[in-house]
Amino acid sequence: MTVVERPRLGFLEKPMRLFIGGEWVDGADSFETRDPATGEVLAEIPIADSGHIDAAVAAARSAYNDGWRDMAPTERQKLMWRLGDLLDDHKEEFAILEVLDNGKPLWEAELVDIALSVEILRYYAGWPTKIHGDVLPNSIPGLVTLRKREPVGVVGAIAPWNFPLLEIMYKIGPALAAGCTLVCKPASWTPLTTLRFGELVNEAGIPPGVINILTGPGKGVGSGIAGHPGIDKVAFTGQTETGQEILRQAIPDLKRVSLELGGKSPNVVFADAQRDAALAGAFGAIFFNQGQACVAGSRLFVEDVIADQFVSDLIEKAKAIKLGQGLNRDVEMGPLVSASHRDTVKGYIEQADGGGAQIVAGGKEAIVEGLEGGYFLEPTVVDGVTNEMSIAQEEIFGPVVSVIRFSEWDELISLSNDVRYGLAAGVWTSDVNKALKYADAVQAGTVWINTYGMFDVSVPFGGRKMSGFGGRELGEEALDAYLQAKSIWIDLEAAIPTQGQGISR
Ligand code: NDP
Repeated sequence: MTVVERPRLGFLEKPMRLFIGGEWVDGADSFETRDPATGEVLAEIPIADSGHIDAAVAAARSAYNDGWRDMAPTERQKLMWRLGDLLDDHKEEFAILEVLDNGKPLWEAELVDIALSVEILRYYAGWPTKIHGDVLPNSIPGLVTLRKREPVGVVGAIAPWNFPLLEIMYKIGPALAAGCTLVCKPASWTPLTTLRFGELVNEAGIPPGVINILTGPGKGVGSGIAGHPGIDKVAFTGQTETGQEILRQAIPDLKRVSLELGGKSPNVVFADAQRDAALAGAFGAIFFNQGQACVAGSRLFVEDVIADQFVSDLIEKAKAIKLGQGLNRDVEMGPLVSASHRDTVKGYIEQADGGGAQIVAGGKEAIVEGLEGGYFLEPTVVDGVTNEMSIAQEEIFGPVVSVIRFSEWDELISLSNDVRYGLAAGVWTSDVNKALKYADAVQAGTVWINTYGMFDVSVPFGGRKMSGFGGRELGEEALDAYLQAKSIWIDLEAAIPTQGQGISR
């Protein structure tokens, strides 16, 4: 398959810096970010130290106190819309940067990562003018009670590497609309689009300090942000264990925390499913984004009577995947994000091989001609999996699907829920009653019926059990995580000061 030469991007020619208070600032040290398709170094990324973290938090606090919180909603809306327009104007460049840093196919970066990031800014640009409080009823004569909705303050936004810009935008959109300011940290494997976004923030005229961007390791820079006393709320997406660590870091100041965490989602194919749609759905659910998706349909439950044929069709499709460099438009699956992540995924496959399951497709590193330095892995189908195996329980975060056969309803529900995660689920059947019954029974934040992996900016997303905590992202519901209520009492008769439920009035 043709190897595409890396396009020359002006942004990659510049020295990378931290974005603090609207200024670009040198880091204390640096690390490399690489193109996972070739293994080549793309850029030197700055590492923030504790002084940079203090400065970014202080800049976000001043911007919050001195203007953003109290800016007229119509003005905040205009700035957010302008930022969305600018991202839209540069969407090709952002998509290429995302492909270079993460490895994903270009069509996916365009259609999902960047297009949805633009949509998020535009959707939440509509909200500052619509966030309102209310007048509440009370039972005390002469007293009026109001409820205001105020921003929570300065937000620390920490994102993973699988949808680098998009995951940061999930937090930036509702935070800005609510009147919050942010200190953002992208993942170390994929910092480029977030840093480039900082340039658009200035170009759009967003006041200095409203959005700050720090790069560097999670343990150090991420933990420095999450534990900083000047941060009011942490919005985090990443692994469940990191989320638990963030919660611990938030305890001393009792910060607000919202966590979007791992998944191990069941995708169920009943015998009466529309076969071609279910097959395409099972395939896309696991191989989209190289399986590096929190919602990956990594546990494929297939009804016994159709399982042999269904699995054989899936193997055929998996073996035919066009693997290669994301910049090539013919490619369906790119490399994994890093050599070490590929080795972790390979480790799970080897463990399953020795543990009684059968690797019926893939399972090995893939060598792509002309891209011998890339971190490719064959799309992998593992059959004969039982639910207690680690391949069925742990989030592998790679192109590896575990096939589990079922025949009874109760067994299906029990196996579907017998996992620590509760992020998403899919179900394929022609019987709508059965589909809805499954949707009721499965423990998941999102259920897709005869489709998989659909997202929309107005539909809330998030997990239950060990997949999520403290709110939802997207839609109107995401705003709740960035707002807090204030109750105000007014005595219209200005009577003697009182206490209690008006008893002594
Ligand atoms: P990690 O938890 O390893 O890292 C996420 C972010 O947290 C990175 O920016 C990382 O920095 C930073 N970080 C790491 N350790 C700490 C710490 N102690 N304190 C503060 N910050 C820290 O997750 P991954 O990047 O590996 O992302 C994959 C995970 O994300 C999967 O589990 C996936 O399911 C989940 N995810 C969940 C989604 C959801 O909506 N539920 C959506 C997308 C992904 P650094 O990169 O420098 O290590």
